[in-house]
Amino acid sequence: PVSNSPIALQHRFATDVPELAVPWRAAEVEHPRLLAFSDTLADELGVDAEALSSEEGLAFLTGNRLPEGVTPVAQGYSGHQWGMYTPRLGDGRALLLGEVTDRAGRLRDIHLKGSGATPFSRGADGLAAVGPMLREFIMGEAFHALGIPGTRALAVIGTGRLVRREGLEPGALLVRVASSHLRVGTFQYASASGNLEVLRRLADHAIERHAPEAAEAEHPYLAFYEHVVTAQAELVAAWMHVGFVHGVMSTDNTTVSGETIDFGPCAFLDAFDPGLWFSSIDQNGRYAYRQQPSIVQWNLARFAEALLPILPLTRDEAIAAAADADARADARERGDEAADDEGAESERRADAEARQIRAVELATAALERFGPQYAETYERGMRAKLGLAHVALDDARPVITGVLDLMTAARADYTQFFRGLGAHAASGRGTPARSLFPEPEAFERWAERWRALGPDREAMDAVNPAYIPRNHLVEEALAAASDEADLGPLERLLAAVRQPFDVRPGLARYAEPAPADFGPYTTFC
Ligand code: AMP
Ligand code: MG
Ligand code: MG
Repeated sequence: PVSNSPIALQHRFATDVPELAVPWRAAEVEHPRLLAFSDTLADELGVDAEALSSEEGLAFLTGNRLPEGVTPVAQGYSGHQWGMYTPRLGDGRALLLGEVTDRAGRLRDIHLKGSGATPFSRGADGLAAVGPMLREFIMGEAFHALGIPGTRALAVIGTGRLVRREGLEPGALLVRVASSHLRVGTFQYASASGNLEVLRRLADHAIERHAPEAAEAEHPYLAFYEHVVTAQAELVAAWMHVGFVHGVMSTDNTTVSGETIDFGPCAFLDAFDPGLWFSSIDQNGRYAYRQQPSIVQWNLARFAEALLPILPLTRDEAIAAAADADARADARERGDEAADDEGAESERRADAEARQIRAVELATAALERFGPQYAETYERGMRAKLGLAHVALDDARPVITGVLDLMTAARADYTQFFRGLGAHAASGRGTPARSLFPEPEAFERWAERWRALGPDREAMDAVNPAYIPRNHLVEEALAAASDEADLGPLERLLAAVRQPFDVRPGLARYAEPAPADFGPYTTFC
């Protein structure tokens, strides 16, 4: 903890794995202007919102005024993007300012995005535009209110600087809060370095933050892996429940905390079609809505590969293995290989091979649990959406698949349908749910089977949001803020999505699909 800092920052990541942390300074922001701020998040963090909004506070939040002892770092990571591996990605436009212990005692990262070029920028400008940073802010607030794990932003700060994108756009910086920024790609980076000690320390750091109970397990790294598999299975199920399409599910955008990260070219389904995707750069729909569970599983397989060298080991064995690898590397450097006699060397090789086989078996078994865990979570959530939490899965399953088929055929609005179905449970004919079907007979036949199971209307309204960040509303808010410096639409949209289950008068347009002239939606990043 640091004195005279508006947030008492620690440097646990940089201390535990300095090999992955490059100390760096944020670009100068001459004219910071607060565009969005989350009071409820400030409150969770136990930080003073007013102090942070002052001139001094903004200088701190842009990384321009560094209280003594605060050392921002760019974090290294690799990643599979579109299935292809890039060994060195890293924070090309971001910095970790440090970590803070929130009121609940949890460690949270304070991270800047759009803070200028770093050694990881690969020629790009290191900056961010107002629109995408506000999108990330909106999504973070909405996810929080929906109860879906995600990073969240404390603030968006206009930099007063223009950023070159399609044209020139006003620049901004996002102050992002996450339970960590540890990604599958962070582990890939550590593993690819070939330094077992770094991989082991990274894993221990992650265990302490995200799965302290794994430290007590006989095989802590395997237990941690299993923990992440479960967290990601639950996360992607939650996305599917609300019709969320992430857009860029690269391994560097897959956290080990199980939080959604990088709300870039993301979108919410309106007309239901599981094959849909929106990103302009996704050629074949690799990251389409229905692909998301299998892509997460694929990313988790890459995570297992990164962890393999320590996966079957105890912590003491991992420490010893790293020391041994180090000693042998030193010996090689000294040209001292003969020190190992031939018999010992072949025994060592055989041991390593057996350990590798064991590691692959354990990882495979852990990853095979993803499918059933995902299915279980998804189906539990769908039963809840249909008001059927009390109904046995075997009875509910045909009703779940039946409604998805109906919705696909009618291209019914996903969010409006489920919210309207609550009203249908109560009163039947002429309800909003029914009116979404051009030929209501098939819907009526389905609804009869569903009603026979005794849906609980009140429970439905507590899990089916009325207000989500609909694509056209997000675009409207971003355009007004970006083109006209008008924050009104942003604030009204935030007011709606911050209480997604609570239908309020005057907010009807926030619950409705895009007008026909909005056309098919495409996202850019
Ligand atoms: P993203 O698509 O935002 O998840 O970023 C993928 C990689 O590209 C990360 O290493 C980012 O840091 C980097 N990156 C994205 N945009 C920029 C930018 N404007 N300047 C520098 N690096 C960037
Ligand atoms: Mg990313
Ligand atoms: Mg990024």
